[in-house]
Amino acid sequence: MIEPAALPSRARVVIIGGGVIGTSVAYHLAERGCTDVLLLEQGQLSCGTTWHVACLVGLLRATESGTRLVQYSTDLYARLEEETGLSAGFRRCGGLIVARTPERLTQLRRTAAAAEAFGLQAEMLSPGQAGERYPVMATGDLAGAIWLPDDGQANPADLTYALAKGARNRGATIRERTRVTGVLMPFLAVGFVIYTLRRYGFFPPTAVHWLIAAFSAGVYGVWATWKRDVPAAAAVWATAASAILAWQCLLSAYTELPERSSYKLVTTIKPLIGPQTELFSIGQYRETLSPYLRRTLTLVDFQGELEFGLSEEPSRALTTEAFLAHWNASTNAVAFIAPGILDTWRTRGLQGRVIGGDNQTLVVSRL
Ligand SMILES: Cc1cc2nc3c(=O)[nH]c(=O)nc-3n(C[C@H](O)[C@H](O)[C@H](O)COP(=O)(O)OP(=O)(O)OC[C@H]3O[C@@H](n4cnc5c(N)ncnc54)[C@H](O)[C@@H]3O)c2cc1C
Repeated sequence: MIEPAALPSRARVVIIGGGVIGTSVAYHLAERGCTDVLLLEQGQLSCGTTWHVACLVGLLRATESGTRLVQYSTDLYARLEEETGLSAGFRRCGGLIVARTPERLTQLRRTAAAAEAFGLQAEMLSPGQAGERYPVMATGDLAGAIWLPDDGQANPADLTYALAKGARNRGATIRERTRVTGVLMPFLAVGFVIYTLRRYGFFPPTAVHWLIAAFSAGVYGVWATWKRDVPAAAAVWATAASAILAWQCLLSAYTELPERSSYKLVTTIKPLIGPQTELFSIGQYRETLSPYLRRTLTLVDFQGELEFGLSEEPSRALTTEAFLAHWNASTNAVAFIAPGILDTWRTRGLQGRVIGGDNQTLVVSRL
């Protein structure tokens, strides 16, 4: 294991995570002359997902560029041992892809044709021939197989350590048992903002000033890191402040998020809704309404993630014009509408009174 040591005060590139991807990025950056690279791993190299990998290296990919990338990888695995003295454990043992149905066999034939086009060797096999290549496999229910002699298997931990050694030999710095915490919180906060905006269409106002403060501190931290004449401590303090402010942003935003469940809303209006009452949802689809109402709502002016379902069930959606004509002639209908669009719909001619609501949905009635 690489022993922990004092961290460099700054680096041009910092890589977080010493799995096969992080070490490969460090290796390739260093190989291309960018040696001011610092890789930080919270545990030991390859201790994450990489450790669990079967590490099958299948050359045939859906695209030519994917296939070329894996071809490059196999060449690299062979070259790494010469370069670092550490083996990646790569063995070109060949690979079998099997088919149990005629349709799958047809697909495999196409795969074989694609392999040929990509310049790979591939051979169609009968079930018996496949059994000869891999005797422990039951072949009774097989329709056929494809044999890819250049496929192989590496050892994920060995590969990671070989890449890490290659990177260090070229000047990159690697630190294990070093967890990165500071920069993650602002990223988390930004992710939370995007999620909240996409899901609820607004960001809680009280969290905005925390977000601006966190963002500003973060930007200053990045700037201070970049400018080599600014003391490193300034970048560290700015990053820490950004993390604390981003955390505060998350806390205050969380307390203001709209309730996901519409249970309370439905409970208050359910006594007013009879079996004949028509139900509409305008400009939103709130998953919890239908189950609590035990009814299906007709959608108006909304597609979103329901696009596929609506194409299968077109009667469950109405255009704006069709809905308004229907609604304004009705005396027994209820519509659920996003609060932000009610005024727009009023100007379009939506009649009816608001009989309930919460911060995600208003209920308009023609009862
Ligand atoms: C069961 C299984 C089988 C698989 N089989 C194959 C296969 O046969 N062939 C194939 O090509 N792919 C396979 N994969 C996929 C492959 O494992 C992953 O694509 C690959 O390992 C991802 O590597 P990584 O470096 O991105 O992630 P990881 O190996 O998870 O590395 C991320 C590293 O980041 C570190 N880290 C996280 N947070 C911090 C922090 N805050 N500070 C510092 N360090 C941090 C973690 O400790 C970890 O070591 C398989 C995956 C699984 C789960």
